[in-house]
Amino acid sequence: MSEAPKKARKPRPIAYIDPQGCSGEPCSVCISLCPVDCIDLVGTHRGPDGHNHGFCVVDYDRCTGCSECWKFCPWETIYPIIRQEVDEFRYAIDDGAEPTSGAIFANLK
Ligand code: SF4
Ligand code: SF4
Repeated sequence: MSEAPKKARKPRPIAYIDPQGCSGEPCSVCISLCPVDCIDLVGTHRGPDGHNHGFCVVDYDRCTGCSECWKFCPWETIYPIIRQEVDEFRYAIDDGAEPTSGAIFANLK
């Protein structure tokens, strides 16, 4: 009797924060929830609340994909993305390619 084929494991997503939608320090919900402390406030931009302030970025090497941040972001500006996509993009950049996708990989430049 033949063995049933193994199911392919789904790649685990990690968190991507769209800086345009992040209200930064007035919120900081994701920073307070992240169990591995891998979200930081950086830069300054005009947030969805119309004020200028820092916005959050994720350290992709430390994110475990636990989903806490994207479940509770009040501005719904955190998205699960596939780690492999991040890695492939990084390798392309390391090889000298120009970043081509605006929003989703902006923080990886
Ligand atoms: S929870 Fe969302 S809006 Fe709040 S700081 Fe984090 S990414 Fe920005
Ligand atoms: S998915 Fe979890 S580990 Fe990754 S940034 Fe969000 S809260 Fe932190």
